[in-house]
Amino acid sequence: MLNTSQHSDNSVSLIHWHRPENRSALGSFLCAILCLFLPTLQASPLLITQGQEEITEAKIVPLKKVPSTTAQTTSETEQITLQQAKSEALPSAIAIEQINQESSALPSIQEVEAAEYPEQQIPFTLLGTEVQPGSSTILSWSHSQSIDGIASPAPVLVVHGTQPGPKLCITAAIHGDELNGIEIVRRVINSLDTHKLSGTLIGVPIVNLQGFHRASRYLADRRDLNRYFPGRPYGSSASRIAYSFFNQIVVHCDALVDLHTGSLHRTNLPQLRADLSNSKVAELTQSFGATVVLHHPGARGTLRRATTDAGIPAVTLETGGAMQLHEKPVTHGVKGILTLLYKMGMYKKSSLWGDPEPVYYKSTWVRINQGGILFSRVTLGQRVKQGQLLGTVTDPITNARQEIFATRKGRILGMALNQVVQPGFAAYRIGIQTSEEDMPDEEFEDEEGQENHPSQEMAPEEEPDLASSTNDPSLDRDVLEESE
Ligand SMILES: [Zn+2]
Repeated sequence: MLNTSQHSDNSVSLIHWHRPENRSALGSFLCAILCLFLPTLQASPLLITQGQEEITEAKIVPLKKVPSTTAQTTSETEQITLQQAKSEALPSAIAIEQINQESSALPSIQEVEAAEYPEQQIPFTLLGTEVQPGSSTILSWSHSQSIDGIASPAPVLVVHGTQPGPKLCITAAIHGDELNGIEIVRRVINSLDTHKLSGTLIGVPIVNLQGFHRASRYLADRRDLNRYFPGRPYGSSASRIAYSFFNQIVVHCDALVDLHTGSLHRTNLPQLRADLSNSKVAELTQSFGATVVLHHPGARGTLRRATTDAGIPAVTLETGGAMQLHEKPVTHGVKGILTLLYKMGMYKKSSLWGDPEPVYYKSTWVRINQGGILFSRVTLGQRVKQGQLLGTVTDPITNARQEIFATRKGRILGMALNQVVQPGFAAYRIGIQTSEEDMPDEEFEDEEGQENHPSQEMAPEEEPDLASSTNDPSLDRDVLEESE
């Protein structure tokens, strides 16, 4: 649940951008809803329900001015706390829920465009600084987990458009050795003209400065920051850093894209990781052009899962490998995000993708059973048949050789670079094509190195000290198995 005391200046709409093709149909439905329940809605903020039974999330939205006959509205400046929303808005929420239950033909209330943005762009306040419409600036985020006198805050780039619109956040280098995202943020931010931008783009090119300075995935204490979100104010150092970032920046986003690469010595086909069981997230994935989507709920503690859990749709964009910069993955990422900006109604279309349907995958890892020198026979993105030779591992001393075969028919979404490997090493991630409707609920094998990462199995209060455990190279390998 969001901390509304730090969230009070953030008016968030439910569907945060317009999909032009849906506007007329949604508009008609919205008019119908508002005509029926306008008296109730005027008296209270719209409360959003997540399920059929219980109310799990509330967002405060300044109700929009509805065109034509339903042009009655609440004050656009009305601000109500979350607690007030919960208590006061309950009747209207129940009423809306009843409508959903009575007519399955109608779209879910979650799919209804519940709010618009102010008619005039207003200043945007982040990190204590007011950013004027039509300007861009560099802010600083400090998490207080360092010595004050020598603290080095992380830059936060803000481009605030002249027209109102959504606030999109792009984060990179939560793993400090993943460089492609840093370059993607730079190119996207610097390609924008504030006078053509509707809404706000917030880019954090290097979230994990500690790791970046040391060319390391981890924080200085060897913790993986992307396992500690949304964090706790009095937890471990990693948990406090996560808490600070989440509450100072993430809660101000209407949608979030977290940029990653394959972990050390692995590379990933440009792909979105997303929880497609969440309708808002699923919609977000359809806005990146020709980018494949791997359905995955996300490990507990990842930024995208914590953000999604807080009601803000979030995806991870994986592209390329760590420790280096790769032109093609970077270009793909930039193009994907510019396409997203267009689809969100934030920026006009330039030379972007058309509207290809993303291809959905679930996935499985193929592991090495014999240590040695790995050479691959397949390339990233290649489609493979079950039983197809993927690569070989040869013992450099005994010359014993093992062939690695595909366990499933699919596509190589991620793979190890040629290297020395130990038994158990996950070398090939095969994406198995499926449809969005066929997405299973269960989590897939080998996700996020979960089995070997104690912090994901324990309650936050039992947070272990990973400093020593992750120094074990064999464990490190497994933790690294999932790059996100
Ligand atoms: Zn990563």
